[in-house]
Amino acid sequence: MNCISCGHAIEAHTSIKDSKQQPEAGCICICLYCGNIAALAADGTLRELNTKEAHAVAGDPYILAVQRARAEVMKKREDNAR
Ligand SMILES: [Zn+2]
Repeated sequence: MNCISCGHAIEAHTSIKDSKQQPEAGCICICLYCGNIAALAADGTLRELNTKEAHAVAGDPYILAVQRARAEVMKKREDNAR
């Protein structure tokens, strides 16, 4: 599958709440390349969040923590590329 925002291939996944959890329809996915937040569709692709999902993730401490970690990783990646 590919990110619906930047198009990067999504090649790995991990749950931030339960390391044994497998992805299933409705799971919230964050692209580490661009930070886009999407949901896993029943057909295994990503889709835009619906209104209810968007409200649920806004301000979610887990989502915010992942976004902060993502920003740090991408900054280090950019710094190492220079
Ligand atoms: Zn992306």
